[in-house]
Amino acid sequence: MDSFDLVVIGGGPAGYVAAVRGSQLGLKTAIVESRNTLGGTCLNVGCIPSKALLDSTELFHQAKTKFKVHGIEISEPKANWNQMIQRKRDVVISTTKGIDFLMQKNKITRINGVGSLVSGTVVEITNGTEKTQIGGKNIIIATGSAVAQLSSVPFDGQRIISSEEALELSEIPKSMVIVGGGVIGVEMGSIYARLGTQVTTVEFMDGLIPTMDRELGRALEKTLRSLGMTFHFGTKVTGATSGKKSVTLIAENKKGEPISMEADYVLVAIGRVAYTQGLGLDKVGIAVDSRGRIEINSHYQTNIPTVYAIGDVVKGAMLAHKASEEGVACVELIAGQKPHINYNAIPGVVYTWPEVASVGKTEEELKAAGIAYKKGSAPFKASGRARAAEESDGFIKVLADQTSDEVLGIHMIGPRVADLIGEAVVAFEYRASAEDIGIISHAHPTFSETLKEAALAATGNRAIHF
Ligand code: FAD
Ligand code: NAD
Repeated sequence: MDSFDLVVIGGGPAGYVAAVRGSQLGLKTAIVESRNTLGGTCLNVGCIPSKALLDSTELFHQAKTKFKVHGIEISEPKANWNQMIQRKRDVVISTTKGIDFLMQKNKITRINGVGSLVSGTVVEITNGTEKTQIGGKNIIIATGSAVAQLSSVPFDGQRIISSEEALELSEIPKSMVIVGGGVIGVEMGSIYARLGTQVTTVEFMDGLIPTMDRELGRALEKTLRSLGMTFHFGTKVTGATSGKKSVTLIAENKKGEPISMEADYVLVAIGRVAYTQGLGLDKVGIAVDSRGRIEINSHYQTNIPTVYAIGDVVKGAMLAHKASEEGVACVELIAGQKPHINYNAIPGVVYTWPEVASVGKTEEELKAAGIAYKKGSAPFKASGRARAAEESDGFIKVLADQTSDEVLGIHMIGPRVADLIGEAVVAFEYRASAEDIGIISHAHPTFSETLKEAALAATGNRAIHF
């Protein structure tokens, strides 16, 4: 039996990053992955393919709606869906190949198959009818998550679909109902609405992306309505019947009245659940919580001290960058180092257009916690760069402690805020005051000046441009 210092089960952003860091720290490392490609949900069927389609469809939308005003005359653009899907597949292939390269470069042993725990130091790998066992002084479980099912609307993979099928449809649908107005709902909804699909969203809560600062959801709703999307909030889905070419979704609105919606497809995007199937957790006695997530201590150790767990399969935000940070921190702890993750400083980003990005506490959270705060909001329409780019929608909001001026939360909707949030995260991590951000020189003309202006607004009546 081959033996390793570190065996990682799962090759997603948590697992492959843990493996690379393990190798960097001199650990003899193996990675076990059941898919044929590395990269997990994120690279294969999540972050990367969805962003590829978001970028293609946003360019298409811009060609249709903004080129003329920029003085670019073209004939009516047509969407070549097959080419968009093929480009998306190519992006996925080149990105997952990049992870193969990283494994080779770091001399990590890659094993294809389903990993299952035999004990706290032995993993069995099943690949078809073949079974092998390897030893690991330390084992990290990084098996990620799977799509959550809605019992009243079970997936059939044809008409009632998850994000996986929605990223591989053979046609641009005429209509689509999306159950869930969370991140996947608004990203996938944007992709199809830009292509002309009539998208209707059914959301249980009273607004979009409800876990983020509520002002963001309201602003996003306005933009998505201008794309032609329609919404049913406070609405409970009760069932669906699928036919050969369409599906009818039945729901109950706020007043308790039944409503029915017919569409080519129903996309169910109501969240994801920890994935532990086939791991043999019962066999070795690893504890999970009431939501099926593997229980860990502050060192990512399960109740078996040589077995660790990270990423979507444990508590916390189901985000690729959170998973990767845990990959690094977990291995550094195994190697005796003292890493630290500031979970309050993990940004959340939604890749609609305009983009949405956030770090720290929302206004709702500050109110609920009774924390006195100051607020400064700056609109992108006051930015010269935004006007030059024809991208004036959105705003940045800075929330700071009433007394100390320490930044408590930064929330943005606008052009390229997925990249702008980086500055906010640095400020947040180093416990900057709103004034610190406000007095730092920001290049002119850039979208980042809007963050400076919002920070100045939070420190008092000091914003210059509005
Ligand atoms: P995963 O990426 O799920 O990887 C786990 C891997 O383990 C999988 O490859 C699986 O095959 C393998 N595995 C499972 N069990 C076994 C076993 N027993 N043996 C061997 N292998 C096993 N997050 C962001 O931060 N930004 C985004 O833009 C973003 N977009 C997303 C879009 C979509 C449509 C979806 C679905 C998700 C998106 N996410 C995004 C979330 C992100 O994909 C996850 O948070 C991230 O992939 C979690 O990483 P992980 O390594 O913990 O798990
Ligand atoms: P989500 O938790 O973001 O949103 C699910 C939404 O569905 C919520 O708004 C919830 O109120 C609603 N909902 C739940 N049950 C419902 C029901 N029965 N009827 C109607 N609405 C219902 O989950 P998601 O959008 O499926 O995404 C899954 C995970 O993937 C998330 O954790 C997310 O962080 C991650 N993800 C991240 C990104 C990104 O970072 N840009 C993109 C896609 C996915």
